Amino acid sequence: MRSDTTTSRADGDFIDLRSDVKTRPTGAMLRAISTAPLGDDQAREDPTVIALEERICQLTGQPEAIFVPSSTMANQLALMCRLRPGQEVLAENGSHIFRYEAGGPAALAGAVMTGLPGLNGVIDPRDLRQTAVLSRSEHRPLTRMVVIENTHNVSGGRVWPTAALEAVHDTCDDLGLAVHIDGARIFNASVALGVPLAEITRRAESLSICFSKGLGCPAGAVLAGSEEALDGVRRMRQMMGGSMRQSGVLAAAALYALDHHVDRLADDHRSARHLATGLQQAGLTVDLAQVESNFVFLDVSSLGLRVDEAIAHLAAQGVGWSATHHPGVLRAVTHLDVRAEQIPVAIDRTVAALAATGT
Ligand SMILES: *Cc1c(COP(=O)(O)O)cnc(C)c1O
Repeated sequence: MRSDTTTSRADGDFIDLRSDVKTRPTGAMLRAISTAPLGDDQAREDPTVIALEERICQLTGQPEAIFVPSSTMANQLALMCRLRPGQEVLAENGSHIFRYEAGGPAALAGAVMTGLPGLNGVIDPRDLRQTAVLSRSEHRPLTRMVVIENTHNVSGGRVWPTAALEAVHDTCDDLGLAVHIDGARIFNASVALGVPLAEITRRAESLSICFSKGLGCPAGAVLAGSEEALDGVRRMRQMMGGSMRQSGVLAAAALYALDHHVDRLADDHRSARHLATGLQQAGLTVDLAQVESNFVFLDVSSLGLRVDEAIAHLAAQGVGWSATHHPGVLRAVTHLDVRAEQIPVAIDRTVAALAATGT
C-alpha cells in the first residue's frame, strides 16, 4: 500500500530530495489514523490528542504540551504568550522564526527580533549576554527570550553540540531570559547525538516540534513547555484559529510516527552522508563537515550555473534539489520516502545533470 500511495505520481521514478516535508503518509500510518478513537478536541474530548500531548510531556521532560496545526503556529504562540509588545527576542540571524514566518513575531507578538551572529546556527553566549545587558537601559527594548533552532535549517541541518546548548541555558538562567527551542527537527538532533530527547529539551521553557518534517506525518506540531510558559496558550490557539475538532486523526499519525519513524531518522542521516560522499568523490563541491543530519549542501556556483538553471537540469534528470538561503548553493534533504538504494541513482543523476551542463 505504501508504494502505491507514495509513487503514484506522473513520474513515479522521480527522486524528490527537495525537502523532508514531501513525504506521504504510509499505509500503516493511514491505518493508525483510521482506527484512532476521536472526539472534539476544543472540548478536550479527543482521547488520541490527549494521549499525544501526554506522550510529548514524557519524551521532552516538560509538564505541558498542546497540539497545533503547524510548527510555525507553535513558535508564534510561544512568543505571543510570553512577550509584551516592544520586548525583544534574540535568535541567530538565519533562524526560521526570524526569516521564514512572514514577520509573525512583529505582527502577532509585537516583538523586536534581534539577530545574533551564528556559527553553524549556534549562537555564542557572549553575544547574547552583551545584547541582553544593554537592555537594562530604559531606552532599549527589554530582552525577554532567546530562540535556539535545533537542528538549524539554514546552516544545513546542523546539530547544537550539547556543551553549546548548556552554555546558552546557563547564560539565560543567569540573565533571567526564557529559552524557546524551535525544534521542528529536534528528533534529528537527538538521533544524531545519540541522546534521549529530554536531555536536549528539558531545560527549555518552551519548545516546538514538527510532525510533518522527518517524522513523515501529513500535518501537525506541538508546543511543549512549563506551566507558566503555556499559560493562556489554549485561548491564543483559539484566537489564531488553530483549535481543531476531531484532530485525533492527525494526532494518531504523530503517535504512529513517534513509535515507528524516530529511530529510522538515522537511516536518513546515513543516506545524506552517502549522497554527500558520492558527490564529493565525483568532484562536486560538497562540504562533508556540514552533513550532520539529513541535509546536503551543494555549491553550483563554481560550475558557472545559476541556481534555478541547475535545479531545472537536475529535475529533468529525475532528481529534485531545492534552493537555499545561500547564493549558488542547492540543498538535498533525505527522508522517509527516499530509500537507501535510491541514493546511488540520485548521485548518478546529479552528476550527469551537472556535468552535462557545467563548464
Ligand atoms: C519547517 C520549520 C518550521 C515550521 O514548520 P511548519 O510545521 O511547516 O509550520 C519551523 N522551524 C524550522 C526550523 C523549520 O524548519
